[in-house]
Amino acid sequence: MSFLPDVYIHCEVCEGRRFNQETLDITYKGKNISEVLELTFDEATKFFSAVPSIRRAVQVVCDIGLGYLCLAQPSPSLSGGEAQRIKLAEELAKPSRGRTLYILDEPTYRPPPGRCSKARKSASGLGG
Ligand SMILES: [Zn+2]
Repeated sequence: MSFLPDVYIHCEVCEGRRFNQETLDITYKGKNISEVLELTFDEATKFFSAVPSIRRAVQVVCDIGLGYLCLAQPSPSLSGGEAQRIKLAEELAKPSRGRTLYILDEPTYRPPPGRCSKARKSASGLGG
């Protein structure tokens, strides 16, 4: 079975910003939602430093080595490894529910130096 490739069209109403003007008029620290979504996770950690709940979720993504991704990164554009690590980040960002057993599968290739240790460090930070 074969599938046609994804097709993207540019929206002439919002110019690709995905929000109406009333929404874009609202800003936080000088950025509207469209500009915030263009931040990388690394940049968002600093931008949301005063909002612990957002900062924590963003920091987890950075901790597993994906800080270079944009907040609005479309999921179909993620590599298989990035998609797996986003799932891991989602789990790590949840509040601890006491005793939980995590079984992490070994990668079938050797990831660049630093990536494994970052993920291992993040996982070892799980509640006790
Ligand atoms: Zn639009």
